[in-house]
Amino acid sequence: MTLDATQETGDAPQTIVVIGGGQAAGWIVKTLRKEGFEGRLVMIADEIHPPYERPPLSKAVLAGEADIDTVRIVKPDDFAALNVETWQPDCATSIDREARVVRTRSSREITYDRLVIATGGAARRLPDALVKTSHITYLRTLDEAVALGERLRQSQRVLVIGGGWIGLEVAATARKLGVEAAVVEGAPRLCVRSLPPAVSDFLLELHRANGVDVRLSAALVSLDDHPDDANRVRATLADGSTLDADFAVAGIGLAPHTAIAEAAGLPVADGIVVDEFGATADPRIFACGDVANHPNAWLKRRVRLESWANAQNQAIAAAKAVLGVKEAYADIPWFWSDQYDVNLQILGDIPMDAELAVRGSVQQKSATLFYLQDGNLRGAIAINTPRDLKIARKWMNQGRAVDLATLTDAGKALA
Ligand code: NAP
Repeated sequence: MTLDATQETGDAPQTIVVIGGGQAAGWIVKTLRKEGFEGRLVMIADEIHPPYERPPLSKAVLAGEADIDTVRIVKPDDFAALNVETWQPDCATSIDREARVVRTRSSREITYDRLVIATGGAARRLPDALVKTSHITYLRTLDEAVALGERLRQSQRVLVIGGGWIGLEVAATARKLGVEAAVVEGAPRLCVRSLPPAVSDFLLELHRANGVDVRLSAALVSLDDHPDDANRVRATLADGSTLDADFAVAGIGLAPHTAIAEAAGLPVADGIVVDEFGATADPRIFACGDVANHPNAWLKRRVRLESWANAQNQAIAAAKAVLGVKEAYADIPWFWSDQYDVNLQILGDIPMDAELAVRGSVQQKSATLFYLQDGNLRGAIAINTPRDLKIARKWMNQGRAVDLATLTDAGKALA
């Protein structure tokens, strides 16, 4: 794959266009200016807000404790100083790679020297055939979080469809607000794609202990208006059981916005295919964040990561590469979740055949699970032990061999 657009095309960019206005786009424009780019910078985004961070959406924003002023990535004055032409709300509809032109829904067009696609994705929708009520919401954007929070705070009972990160964080926030919550998950355990069984079980216990009615292996067959009250919902599961609530919220995954790249003939395979610098097969076009599929040095495989850390750090590497500064993005995958009194952090890889060393007590909500292969740390999960995770990250970056007995001896300081 061709990497360096500046070498390849023999020109320094004068106009850089960014499609998207989320966390990755925010870090692209911020980094481009920090790295000294003084040319025209255009950001095309369909939301009206400046780039903001998503982690608070399912927590503080829902609880009514945060708004755009607390979640924005760049303070208003600093954003103005970046001198970004924001085309908002608008939506890029096509990329003409030959003419290097992006066209938008509002019939505007712009010629780019470099283009960055940071389009993220949309909340997956439940099939229309299954949903016969209007009392269903999704959570992806700030406006959706604000509206969902207002509704939640006026409700007595919410039905959450999907036992992934959105579903669990919404359920935890609901309980914090004194709202009853039920979670319907299709798989036999929670967060099945990102967690090993022991940690799924831990989360299940945590939610049940906090009063959440969690249903696993539960196939939703219909979501209707309640037969006695059209202002409420009724979910029917495959086993015939029903669940009633004031409204439902679904968190059933993310569909990456790859269509514009695909239509432009860029390779797409579970995301827009990029290299470790964020470059696509077209040397003038880059992609990063939730929408990009990159070769991950730690996992030793390609992956599309949907995480805060990836959106930020992959964007920084891509912005530098846009300007010809090639620093490979090689971060160890990392993400976290806050639910009730638990801060859960997941780092690296959790191979099925890895050896497990547990330090501390999962039951007492203070434990670090280390996953080893051939004496090397491949991954770690920290339950309220952020310091352990910091040390694990250092060791993993150093490729340091670790001793299982030391890890599990809580009497011995890790450091
Ligand atoms: P997710 O974490 O992928 O979880 C979706 C869950 O819903 C999966 O367990 C999925 O099971 C299940 N599901 C799918 N269809 C279903 C159905 N019809 N009925 C019941 N369950 C169903 O996605 P998400 O929770 O929607 O989150 C969206 C994105 O936001 C993700 O990228 C997530 O990582 C991110 N996010 C991250 C955080 C964090 O890092 N703390 C917090 C919130 C959101 P299958 O896997 O079997 O389909």
